[in-house]
Amino acid sequence: LPVVVIVGRPNVGKSTLFNRLVGRRVAVVEDTPGITRDRLYAETEWNGRRFQVVDTGGIVFSEEDPLSEQIRVQANVALEEADIVLFLTDARDGMNPDDMDLARELRPVKKPVLVVVNKADNPERDSFANEFYSVGLGEVYPVSGLHGRGVADLMDVVVDLLPPASEIDVDDRTEVRVAIVGRPNVGKSSMINAFTGEQRMIVSDIAGTTRDAIDTELEYHGEKFRLIDTAGIRRRGKIQGSVEYYMVDRAQKAIDKADCAMVVVDGNEGLTDGDKRIMKLAHDAGKAVVFAINKWDLKEPPDGHPRHMTQIKKDFIKVVKNEIPELNYATAAFTSAKESAGLGPALDEVLRAQEAYNFRISTGQLNRLIQEAVFSRPYSSKGRVLKIYYATQVSTRPPTFVLFCNDPELLHFSYQRYLLNKIREAFPLEGTPVRLTAKSSH
Ligand code: GDP
Repeated sequence: LPVVVIVGRPNVGKSTLFNRLVGRRVAVVEDTPGITRDRLYAETEWNGRRFQVVDTGGIVFSEEDPLSEQIRVQANVALEEADIVLFLTDARDGMNPDDMDLARELRPVKKPVLVVVNKADNPERDSFANEFYSVGLGEVYPVSGLHGRGVADLMDVVVDLLPPASEIDVDDRTEVRVAIVGRPNVGKSSMINAFTGEQRMIVSDIAGTTRDAIDTELEYHGEKFRLIDTAGIRRRGKIQGSVEYYMVDRAQKAIDKADCAMVVVDGNEGLTDGDKRIMKLAHDAGKAVVFAINKWDLKEPPDGHPRHMTQIKKDFIKVVKNEIPELNYATAAFTSAKESAGLGPALDEVLRAQEAYNFRISTGQLNRLIQEAVFSRPYSSKGRVLKIYYATQVSTRPPTFVLFCNDPELLHFSYQRYLLNKIREAFPLEGTPVRLTAKSSH
């Protein structure tokens, strides 16, 4: 949904306007001290367009936070999150130096900023609104948040400025793009053959032969997949050195084109350096990652008891994740390209990872989660307390979050991991990397 953010110095009537726009009184829920976030966001609709309204007045500051800090946080939220900014001022008080400060912060914001002059309860007050032309942000809109005067006209303007519905959250990708990557001989070509059920890959053994990547399309459970292949690189003996180079280069190109990297490894061998290099590529690209642990048909249970295979699978995954701890989020499937086994489950894992890769958390849920996490385990360093004012998901593919805080330096690596774990515990994000960065409000 597009986002309309209300900013303004204290007491101009942000929450009154917010309640008016969302058409109800939104309760301030405060079951845990320090957590008052529910009046921050609400969805609403005007002329058939749905959008989200954010009241930056709902961001909680403590007494000792200077107003300048609040103004910067508001402006940053507007900058990151808003499609449209409502810069709220007060016709009764008139222009105030804090308005000017906020206007200065908002001028670089490359999005529509509407100067809304509140408390224009009657036509006489409208003339007081005129002085706000001098903030240099264009047209001013006198309204009365309390009585509703002028609000409908304002909403008409807002809705006209919203990005066209066709540009919002339209997932026009009709297929899931999967890069099938891995070092030579792990079974990539065999796997693609098995997926499509026919011998479409013709592997040439002529020295020096290279082929361009060939995509294979397939449909599974009503979903279209495009398998992007890197298998066709066979270079012989003498030029060993370049095999490694081509392997990495091709894998990189395939991964770049994909949403999800399926990293094929040979389940009978331990992880080699080549496997690890490919895994690192997948991780660094920030794509969803699924391991296909192939040639599983050759795996014998050590004591001949098939029921022990479950444990062997778990152990294998554990070993992989120990070797590449940063890929802890990857999911795995055990396959046999030769016997066409485990291929459906592998695609199921790809779909799951794909959903995680595209996952969007509502701002409300996200902020509640972060506030609760901070509340139950506050963080401070060198006598300074980390304050997180506001969190927002700035993008998907992969899910990326920004925290507005008093000092990003205070977001220590271990604390960042703590927050990421909280997010992962609460939402189905297995298979995708998740990014979390801190921004200063300064
Ligand atoms: P690529 O270089 O990764 O494309 O690997 P290929 O698909 O060319 O396979 C390399 C070798 O492993 C071939 O001899 C395949 O027949 C064999 N192979 C591939 N997948 C499996 C599997 O699941 N089980 C067994 N037993 N052999 C496999």
